[in-house]
Amino acid sequence: VRLHLLGVRGSTPAPGPNFVRYGGNTSCVAVYLDADGGPSALPELIFDAGTGLAGLGRLLGGGAYTGDIVLSHLHWDHVQGLPFCPAVDRDDSVVRLHLPVGDDPASPVEVLARGFSPPHFPIDPHGLRGSWEFRAVRPGTITLAGGAALTAAPVPHKGGAAVGFRLEVAGRSLAYLPDHLLDPNHLAGSVGALVAGVDVLVHDGQYTPDEAAVASAYGHAVIDDVLAWADACGVGRVVLTHHAPSRSDAQLDSFAARYARTGAGRPVHIATEGEVIEVRAADPATVASLSRSGR
Ligand SMILES: [Zn+2]
Repeated sequence: VRLHLLGVRGSTPAPGPNFVRYGGNTSCVAVYLDADGGPSALPELIFDAGTGLAGLGRLLGGGAYTGDIVLSHLHWDHVQGLPFCPAVDRDDSVVRLHLPVGDDPASPVEVLARGFSPPHFPIDPHGLRGSWEFRAVRPGTITLAGGAALTAAPVPHKGGAAVGFRLEVAGRSLAYLPDHLLDPNHLAGSVGALVAGVDVLVHDGQYTPDEAAVASAYGHAVIDDVLAWADACGVGRVVLTHHAPSRSDAQLDSFAARYARTGAGRPVHIATEGEVIEVRAADPATVASLSRSGR
């Protein structure tokens, strides 16, 4: 199982010379579900459709996308790539788009179309070429290609329904929570269950402790809380993503130094657009030393 990070920015794209190395596109992660990650494999699952989705075509060798796209929520930085991705907007694409609608009685495509139709945008979702299905994300588990199990649960954020995901396939596991008003004491319940013991946690890393007031006002996490929570939840390693749009390459370099490990020693990585992350079971030696340290 491999992740290809296509967009690691939160809120709005970040163009310009200060954002070149970590990348400026908004949230999008392509997932290769095959256990061995052979070179001929293609991504069959996409988390979120921010502007990073436009880069999907590079992974498909000129072919059309066939697979699932699951949205954590419908804020602009998670949907704006949908009409700007030639690999999904073509006659031979086959896409199942899953989006959370909370308790809204409207159909999923109607909910999506509220922000994706004239006068907000020239076309509505039915104007996308190819074969599209629009499905509601409900709390619980669905089965995807290759027997992958995708579990969704509501996550506190701000302004409309938001969910986090846990993916389990071929004995590997990851959790994806890009926008999360994290209560570090929140270990029990469905959010804690999404994250418990995963090999890789891809998580909201938008704010520092100095910015805690902004983080809670906008429904986001504070990095130090994320790392403590990751230790409490027993994850293998942490990938911090959804970087604030003002966060320069130099600042993210300083985060890489400051946040290299969790308090209990788990590896922490600052997500970078274009990189590939292998989801491996945690190294047994690491697990043993972490459990000896009481975490
Ligand atoms: Zn976001």
